[in-house]
Amino acid sequence: MRPARAYIGIGSNLDDPIRQVRRAFQALNGILASGCVAQSPLYRTAPVGGPPGQPDYINAVAALDTGLTPLQLLMALQTLELAQGRTRSVRWEARTLDLDLLLYDHLTSDDPRLTLPHPRLHQRAFVLYPLCDIAPNLNIPGHGPLTELLARCPPQVITRLDSAD
Ligand code: ATP
Ligand code: CA
Ligand code: CA
Repeated sequence: MRPARAYIGIGSNLDDPIRQVRRAFQALNGILASGCVAQSPLYRTAPVGGPPGQPDYINAVAALDTGLTPLQLLMALQTLELAQGRTRSVRWEARTLDLDLLLYDHLTSDDPRLTLPHPRLHQRAFVLYPLCDIAPNLNIPGHGPLTELLARCPPQVITRLDSAD
């Protein structure tokens, strides 16, 4: 069967975030029945929401071809978060690693355990810029062309890092 194409949003703002994101790219490649087919550049972004005084985030997006179902893939992502020291108590608090399933083919779902596309994807510069770097022609189910979402996105502080950073 043809694999599905999934896009994963990666974020970290604790414990050497650049290293955390690079480690996450490698770990994604190790997910069962899956392979990473594209990696975006890294971005440094100011935190949006959550408790005040958080450090900046490092964000990126990966494209993954996968034979897993959406829920299997979400569980695999949560396993990788835990392996990199993710804890959850306060909503949107600082974290070593956050892996969001942004898109899974053109699937839509309003299940709170797994909502597709990711419900806040279209409002977030730190998702839209790296996603556009690796998949500029994407159409986001329920929202339209990615480039139009980027043009309409609320202003946010975001800087692209050099690959040497
Ligand atoms: P946000 O969802 O606003 O980016 P967050 O990433 O900090 O916030 P988490 O604490 O990582 O939120 O996840 C909360 C719950 O969201 C998870 O337990 C998961 O079941 C659910 N969830 C729903 N849709 C998705 C999705 N597309 N990707 C990842 N998690 C999702
Ligand atoms: Ca998130
Ligand atoms: Ca998450």
